[in-house]
Amino acid sequence: MARTLYEKVFDAHAVRPLASGQYQLLMGLHLIHEVTSPQAFSMLRERGMGVLYPERTFATVDHIIPTHSQSRPLADAMAEEMLQHLERNCAEFGIHFFAPTDGEQGIVHVIGPELGLTQPGMTICCGDSHTSTHGAFGAIAFGIGTSQVRDVLATQCLAMEKLKVRRIEVSGHLRPGVYAKDVILWIIHRLGVQGGVGYAYEYAGEVFDRFSMEERMTVCNMSIEGGARCGYVNPDATTYEYLRGRRFAPAGSAWDRAVASWESMRSDPDARYDDVVRIDAGDIEPIVTWGITPAQSAPVGAPLPTPASFAEAERPLVHEAYRYMQLTPGTPVKGTRIDVAFIGSCTNGRVSDFEEVVRHLAGRGLKVAPHVKALIVPGSQAVRHELVRRGYDAIFREAGFDFREAGCSMCLAMNPDKLEGNQLCASSSNRNFKGRQGSPTGRTLLMSPVMVAAAAIAGEVADARDVFAIEGGAA
Ligand code: SF4
Repeated sequence: MARTLYEKVFDAHAVRPLASGQYQLLMGLHLIHEVTSPQAFSMLRERGMGVLYPERTFATVDHIIPTHSQSRPLADAMAEEMLQHLERNCAEFGIHFFAPTDGEQGIVHVIGPELGLTQPGMTICCGDSHTSTHGAFGAIAFGIGTSQVRDVLATQCLAMEKLKVRRIEVSGHLRPGVYAKDVILWIIHRLGVQGGVGYAYEYAGEVFDRFSMEERMTVCNMSIEGGARCGYVNPDATTYEYLRGRRFAPAGSAWDRAVASWESMRSDPDARYDDVVRIDAGDIEPIVTWGITPAQSAPVGAPLPTPASFAEAERPLVHEAYRYMQLTPGTPVKGTRIDVAFIGSCTNGRVSDFEEVVRHLAGRGLKVAPHVKALIVPGSQAVRHELVRRGYDAIFREAGFDFREAGCSMCLAMNPDKLEGNQLCASSSNRNFKGRQGSPTGRTLLMSPVMVAAAAIAGEVADARDVFAIEGGAA
């Protein structure tokens, strides 16, 4: 019977059905970091258990690591202690730790793919919501909680329900100045933050066929923001080219066998879906969020929606969003003064994200507005190394951006990079929840990296197509 990739991967990893109606699902890869693993290791010790497959478990430090300097001991004693716990746990249980001193550290969802650990047809889990990123390779990847981290360390398995599958096809061409970030913000805007509950999202169509792996990762990363448990793109030649030669990718004769196996995991042409959504790429504009959920967004130049335009049940949240964000319905978000600009995170902290910004910045003499603090934070040390090799660090500094070390930085602000007071931040990250960027009254506007750069230069939310004179982009 024809099956989707989700069904094939799920069936291939299902150990047995459980009385609860769930399945015991074997995890091919378990990624861990310093925030959600310490308690899990403590629980293992309390029960006298070990890690069943240390060779399938890999660790990094990302949330707490400062980005102005990674030198030890970390200035924040609690962060230093968390890092030491991770180091000790990895050493004791035989887990590979990608340490800052080895030049391998980075955000967990950036390093997994760049090292070739993330591969098609895999089941992947990590104690972080944005594990859905890895679905860009045709893997089924879930974020899990601390007690599940313990379960996977001990058994390499999770109890999981089988999800429905929604295919989201984006056809046609994106206009210049419209990016993968706009595509996923548009999808979430259209389907809502709860729209994906109970679903895996399969992204497809011409736009995804043309997307690079990094663009696919940007979209899959935010599947969870649309309520989907995971999101994926079927693997293809772009996937295999990306993986070829990476450190943990199969090599030699194993490579050909792997590609044949990966091809067999693609959704069958006549696979049946529980739902299909079709989107015309030409309808998508550069999107900016105006509220406190990633679905509360609008095209940059459009008037913000009035509360009356929402269903009655949604209006309290809309009112709450306008109060918190101090924005006005009926006027565009464009022109709103910003305080901080942040380009980085596991959504948009990869080489191509910075490359696209540099393409518009370089040689134009453009400068960050004097009142704006602007951060460039590479998603990994390898990304940072590549940006420096290309001379992008100098271009960013010349334009007035602060070029930092690798980490999660201001995405979650579990490190010194935080908003202060009610500062407004143009951000390439993935969540605009209240207080997400470190200040209980701090405000976040999600947008693409190029739009963040445009806002940094204009000193206010701006249409990047105007700021950078992007031809053919205007509506
Ligand atoms: S960049 Fe943000 S979303 Fe991604 S892993 Fe770090 S804190 Fe989580």
